[in-house]
Amino acid sequence: MSKNKTSAYSFFNCIEKNFDKATRFISSIKKGLLEQIKACNAVYRMHFPVKIGKEIKVIEAYRVQHSHHKLPCKGGIRYSMKVNQDEVMTLAALMTYKCAIVDVPFGGAKGGIKIDPQTISSENIEKITRRYTSELIKKNFIGPGIDVPAPDYGTGEREMSWIFDTFLSLRSGDVDALACVTGKPVSQGGVRGRKEATGLGVFYGIRELCHLKEDMSSVGLDVGLVGKKIIIQGLGNVGYHAATFFHKAGAIIIAVAEREGAIYNEKGLNVSKVFLHLKNTGSILNFPESKNIKNTEKALELECDILIPAALENVIHVNNANYIKAKIIGEAANGPITPEADDILEKKGVIIVPDIYLNAGGVTVSYFEWLKNLSHVRYGRMEKKFRENMNAGLLQVIETVSNKKITIEEKKSILRGPREIDLIHSGLEDTMINGFHKIRDLKKSSKIDNMRTAAFVLAINKIIDSYEKLGIFP
Ligand code: NAD
Repeated sequence: MSKNKTSAYSFFNCIEKNFDKATRFISSIKKGLLEQIKACNAVYRMHFPVKIGKEIKVIEAYRVQHSHHKLPCKGGIRYSMKVNQDEVMTLAALMTYKCAIVDVPFGGAKGGIKIDPQTISSENIEKITRRYTSELIKKNFIGPGIDVPAPDYGTGEREMSWIFDTFLSLRSGDVDALACVTGKPVSQGGVRGRKEATGLGVFYGIRELCHLKEDMSSVGLDVGLVGKKIIIQGLGNVGYHAATFFHKAGAIIIAVAEREGAIYNEKGLNVSKVFLHLKNTGSILNFPESKNIKNTEKALELECDILIPAALENVIHVNNANYIKAKIIGEAANGPITPEADDILEKKGVIIVPDIYLNAGGVTVSYFEWLKNLSHVRYGRMEKKFRENMNAGLLQVIETVSNKKITIEEKKSILRGPREIDLIHSGLEDTMINGFHKIRDLKKSSKIDNMRTAAFVLAINKIIDSYEKLGIFP
C-alpha cells in the first residue's frame, strides 16, 4: 500500500497503528478475532464507462464493506480526485469503530468515485451517480438490509436522491426502498436534522469536554465555550454547521480556512456572513473586516483554544504539528492527524477529541433516518398532539391548584409536543454525551493516555462482544 506524502504510513496503516495501540488494553486477547476485526471484509473496485459530451470516460469507483459483524453496512460516498482504495478502506474501517462507539447497529462501509465534482456539470454527475448505483445493485452492494450509503466529502442530498431513485427503479415495489440510502432531502424520505447532524455532533462533543473543570485546567483553559477562540478548516457541510453552533454558543470563530486561502479576525467572524460571501463570490477571501492568509495551511498554526479540522485527512502532519498552538483539537474530518503528528501533539499535552467519536453525529442521525424509512412514519407524528393535550390538561390542574395564571409565553413552551427535529436533536445530543463519557470513563479507569486509544478500546470491546455472542460460522 502506498505511503502518503506527509506520513511514513499509508492511511490504512494509520488506523491499524491506532488499533494495535488499543489492543494493549484489551484483557482477553484472541489474536484471530482481532485480525478479523481489523480486516476489510469486502472490497469492490469498479471501472465503468460514462458518455460525457461526445467522449466515453472510464470512471474509477469503490465500495468497501469493512465489517459484516452487524448488518447492514453503513458509510458515506465521497467524490474527489484523491479517492483511492487505501482511502476508502480506511474510511470504511473508521465507520465500523464509529458505529460501535455510538451504539449504532451497523458494520462500517465507505464508497468513493474518483471525479472532481467542481469541474463536472450536474447532468454528468447525475449520470455517474446513477451508473455507480446500478453497479452496486448488480453486485448486491446496496440495499436496506445490505449496505446503506450516505453523503460524505463532495456529495450531499442531491446525490442521495439520485441513488434512491435509481435503486427504486430497479427494485420496483420494494416497500423499504427508501431505507437503501440516508442523507436524502426531507421530501424524499430524509429526516429533519440530518444535514447539520455531523457539525452539531462535533459541537455537542466539544461542549461536553469544555464543561469539565479537570480537563480544562489540564490545558489551562476556563470552563465553558463562551469566549473560546476557534479555528475552522473547511467550510463545507461539517465545518459550516459546527462553526454556526459554536458561534451561537458564544465561542469566537477567529479564522476559517478553505482551499483558496484563509481569513482571520481576532475579534471573531460572523460565520453565516462568511458563508454568504463564499456563495456570492466563490471564495472566502476578501471577506470584509478580515485579513487574508494566502497559505491556507498556515491558518492551522494561529494562536487559538480549539482547532477544528473539517476538510480532509492528513492535514496535521510531522512538518506542522510542532507549530500547532491549539489546546484542543476536535477531529471533525476523518483522519486529519497523521500518527507522527499525533505523538508530537500528545507530548505537547494537546487534548485530541478523535474522529471515530466526534464526527459520529452524521451516522447517528442516518440511523434515525433509516429507522424512520423502515417504520414509514415521521418522528413525532403519532404522539405530538397527544402530548400537547396531556400538557394542556396538566397546566389546567396546576393553574387551578395554585390559583395562578401562567403567561402565554410560558404556556407556548410547556404545551408544545415534540416535532421531528426536536426528537432528532435530543437523540443526537444524548448519544454524543453518552459516547463522550464512556470514552472518558474508560480512559480513566484503564489509565489510557489519550482519548483516541480509549475510543478504539471501547469500539473493539463492543465488536468482540458482538462476535462472541454471534459465534463464527463454521
Ligand atoms: P464537504 O465537501 O461538504 O466540505 C469540505 C470542505 O473542505 C469544502 O468546503 C472544501 O472546499 C474544503 N477543503 C478542501 N480542501 C481543503 C483544504 N486543503 N483546506 C481547507 N479547506 C479545504 O465535505 P464534508 O461532508 O463537510 O466532509 C468534511 C470531512 O468530514 C471529511 O473528512 C468527511 O469524511 C468528514 N465527515 C463528513 C460527514 C458528513 O456527514 N458529511 C460525516 C462524518 C465525517
